Amino acid sequence: MKRTLVALLLVLSLAGSAVFAASADVVVVGGGGAGLLAAIAAAEEGADVVLLEKMPFLGGATLICGAVTTAAGSRLQAQAGIEGDSAEIFFLDLMKGGEYTNDARLTWLMAKQGGAVMDWMEDLGVAFGPEPVKWAEHRIDRSFRWTGGGSALIKSLNEAAAAKGVEVLLNTRAKRLVQENGRITGVVAVDKGGSEQVISADAVILATGGFGADMDMWPESLQSVLYYGPVSSTGDGHKMAAEVGADLTFMDKMKVYPHGVEIAPGRAQLTTIASVPLVGFGAILVNSNGERVIDESVDIVSLKKKTLEQPGTQLFIVFDSAMKAKLDEMGLTMVFNFTDDQIEELIAQPGRIARHDDLAAAAAEMGIDPAGLAATIEQYNQAVAAGNDPVFGRKNLSAPILQPPYYVMEQKLRTATSLGGVRVTTDMRVLDEEGQVIPGLWAAGEIIGAAHGNESMPGVATLWAFVSGKAAGVSAAAK
Ligand SMILES: Cc1cc2nc3c(=O)[nH]c(=O)nc-3n(C[C@H](O)[C@H](O)[C@H](O)COP(=O)(O)OP(=O)(O)OC[C@H]3O[C@@H](n4cnc5c(N)ncnc54)[C@H](O)[C@@H]3O)c2cc1C
Repeated sequence: MKRTLVALLLVLSLAGSAVFAASADVVVVGGGGAGLLAAIAAAEEGADVVLLEKMPFLGGATLICGAVTTAAGSRLQAQAGIEGDSAEIFFLDLMKGGEYTNDARLTWLMAKQGGAVMDWMEDLGVAFGPEPVKWAEHRIDRSFRWTGGGSALIKSLNEAAAAKGVEVLLNTRAKRLVQENGRITGVVAVDKGGSEQVISADAVILATGGFGADMDMWPESLQSVLYYGPVSSTGDGHKMAAEVGADLTFMDKMKVYPHGVEIAPGRAQLTTIASVPLVGFGAILVNSNGERVIDESVDIVSLKKKTLEQPGTQLFIVFDSAMKAKLDEMGLTMVFNFTDDQIEELIAQPGRIARHDDLAAAAAEMGIDPAGLAATIEQYNQAVAAGNDPVFGRKNLSAPILQPPYYVMEQKLRTATSLGGVRVTTDMRVLDEEGQVIPGLWAAGEIIGAAHGNESMPGVATLWAFVSGKAAGVSAAAK
């Protein structure tokens, strides 16, 4: 089915806006992690591939994400000396994480193929750090950080795509799918200047990411939660797929996290990458009464649920300068992707991050009852000295909170990643409301619903983007 990309042809010009036509074997819509891997995989299978990206740059959520991917059976895991993991154990963890609502076929695919897909990405030039990241949710260490973060990963994938002949069109927004006699035969896209292009293809892969940036698509129950994702996640693919009869599922589900600092009205930045290790160093979480409410080392979903029960649906993380120094040694900042200057600006604003030599002053600034916090810290420090947390049974009691200056950082609920989207087969073909394949249409990444179920586990949203991207690319090229 190999066919040479037809050079763009001017076919007509109406009211000043030109319409161009082109064709390819496979058109991929969206240049985040899923779209780039789909394009590379399809090109490796011998297809002519065009990738459309609406932004002036590639990357989407993948570019700005926490840059941690979780998989069982990767070379990285073996090199780190971690034994005893398997696709079966990972699958059971994933099903539990999704509260057993997951589409088990998709979850199994992710569990089974994740390690090999990470190995393939290393072969494509993506670098991962050697030390695994530890999460309460995963029974076995299987998460790894991308060296250089999202920008390094996208750069490597962009180079790999170029080397395999993928044609990338930036500033090119797909606006609708072309459907003829039920079959998807191409995409209508518009460039920055407003010119339309009709790109015909044997296969179209929607890899447009989530719908977090379009609050009209959010469930009513989450309207007070902060958003921390990219502006590009506007659910374009969800809308285009629905127009051609695709069945959307889990549309009332978004991944809500407990660790957020409000950096602008309604907007959050994540602190998970710092908050999790800080708890490991001895930090505690309190509510506005200054009370601890949970064993802070629990999994993220339990923490989210407990946060929802608190006054103002938020918690605060409290730590001292010794714990902050350990974070610095790891090269991690309190607020993800923020420079030291940006963090100082947040500290200068009242009520976001307090840093004071006097614990009572830190509590007062954050709207926490100072007497309540003082009593909690005293009780907690005694628990650390005794090596026993009688209230919550926390096992990890590494250090007391003693050394000023003290830090108190707000921990608000935040969301970016949507869990709902199109229903697919295990080779990523999009299904209609009758459960029938829509010919010519594939999907990859966050646009797919049900792969994670009600919740997603740490590091698996990117794994799903990568595994589904590769599967979609291979299948679309073959068909
Ligand atoms: C701040 C943050 C931190 C995160 N941290 C982690 C983490 O550490 N680990 C993890 O596993 N997951 C994490 N996630 C979730 C994860 O990043 C995403 O689920 C995943 O990267 C989605 O990949 P994708 O390729 O499906 O979508 P995206 O990466 O969002 O890519 C979609 C692309 O499609 C483009 N697009 C959209 N509409 C159109 C259109 N009409 N025409 C053309 N192009 C279009 C977008 O511009 C974008 O480039 C995080 C998310 C965020 C926001």
